[in-house]
Amino acid sequence: MNEVLLEQILIYGTVFPLCAFTVFFYLRKKNKKTIETAKKVEVAKEEGLYEPVSLYPHIDLNSCIGSGACITACPEKDILGIVNGIATVINTSNCVGHGACFHACPVEAISLRIGTETRGVDLPHVSENYETNIKGIYIAGELGGMGLIKNSVEQGQMAIDNMVKNKKPPKDNVLDVVIVGAGPAGIAASLAAKKHRLSSLTLEQDSLGGTVYTFPRAKIVMTAPMDLPLYGRVKLHDTSKDELLTLWKKVISENDLKIIEHTKAESIIPLENGTFKIITNKGEEYFSNHVLLAIGRRGTPRKLNVPGEESQKVAYRLLEPEQIHEKKVVVVGGGDSAIESALLLTDENEVVLSYRKDKFSRLKPKNRKKIEQAIADNSVQVVFNSNLVSINDQSVLINKEDDETMEIENDLVYIFAGGELPTGFLKKAGVEISKRFGHIMKSHK
Ligand SMILES: Cc1cc2nc3c(=O)[nH]c(=O)nc-3n(C[C@H](O)[C@H](O)[C@H](O)COP(=O)(O)OP(=O)(O)OC[C@H]3O[C@@H](n4cnc5c(N)ncnc54)[C@H](O)[C@@H]3O)c2cc1C
Ligand code: SF4
Repeated sequence: MNEVLLEQILIYGTVFPLCAFTVFFYLRKKNKKTIETAKKVEVAKEEGLYEPVSLYPHIDLNSCIGSGACITACPEKDILGIVNGIATVINTSNCVGHGACFHACPVEAISLRIGTETRGVDLPHVSENYETNIKGIYIAGELGGMGLIKNSVEQGQMAIDNMVKNKKPPKDNVLDVVIVGAGPAGIAASLAAKKHRLSSLTLEQDSLGGTVYTFPRAKIVMTAPMDLPLYGRVKLHDTSKDELLTLWKKVISENDLKIIEHTKAESIIPLENGTFKIITNKGEEYFSNHVLLAIGRRGTPRKLNVPGEESQKVAYRLLEPEQIHEKKVVVVGGGDSAIESALLLTDENEVVLSYRKDKFSRLKPKNRKKIEQAIADNSVQVVFNSNLVSINDQSVLINKEDDETMEIENDLVYIFAGGELPTGFLKKAGVEISKRFGHIMKSHK
């Protein structure tokens, strides 16, 4: 056999099988990924996480080359995946709008959108200087459509900077601005108002920090530094909720800001003289030349309006379940939040779940399985067809279908009765809103 032939046999005999093996393993891996992602999409659909609630990545299927750069860049888990070599969304409703996917895509196949073709999302009309159609009412932060701590902080500051250009002469008992909401946008706006020496007041229906205060996880990702008025550059990349809240509290106290927590702005009434009357849930009235709405998009937990609901033992979300031991807890509601909270408390507490309907419907399959198991184990007592009618110091009263009233000894009450979106509040103040179907918030870099 001549040498050339031997060489060729060697090449074809080793290189080709090697290539074939490589291609085989590559395709097998790709196929495995596709199957895994497709399964995750199915679960996301079952659990109601597939449809977006706010900002989300929209993938242009004709441009996507399946590089996977978006998946690597996204700091959240399982928002994006690859099916058959093309990117797909999975748990879209968990997208918090970092936009890292959008920046990472090498072929600009991702745009950040709000609303889908079939499911519209209400967005208020806001001009470039953050003013609404009502002169004097401004909007900053996630309510305007763009999420993230950094964006909200920037917008809060810019809205006040623009407001200062239209500053009106001082009047007795009329503030320069009332800021509604003390999340990132409201905090930055309050600091900016102080910097510009405006007379201002901030109302927060819940606790300082807004959505950040309620994060179910400690970790916070900030893709770029942010500038906080009266403080300077904040360079926290991977930080914690506690670190950020501590920083905000420090800056607020050093600058002596007036932020009134646990007070909701119930209505904003434009007056004939061009000022606004702001009425709170506690009946106080404030007058102001301008109003900044920094109320986010998450709305207000719905109340039951029963006697005793204002008690300290009542809450509308469960923040640190690991801190609650040996308590008698009543959880009201039959949705996923109620079930998940009840289940988190069963190990170390006595839990009664009161639900107004005769059975659970539309639960995530894994919650349904777990609650059925907990009922079977007697680790939670569920009272169907029941309504909480009053909350007392040591107990609660629950009315059952047969009009029987149950008194249950109790230390803590958690109410999960859904939420009221900010749309009604805005409309009442005259702010124009439109439904957006797939509105592009970011389309080029
Ligand atoms: C689970 C989760 C994780 C996230 N992770 C990150 C992250 O890692 N990094 C990041 O940058 N962003 C993250 N985000 C997004 C970020 O939290 C929001 O974009 C940001 O908090 C929006 O700020 P905001 O001030 O506009 O609104 P919010 O933070 O929602 O604050 C609005 C405030 O207004 C109050 N309010 C509403 N109505 C009234 C009223 N009528 N009267 C008085 N007060 C009122 C509310 O109680 C609330 O405190 C995350 C969001 C979620 C849900
Ligand atoms: S916008 Fe952010 S959270 Fe949403 S998919 Fe892109 S990187 Fe992930």
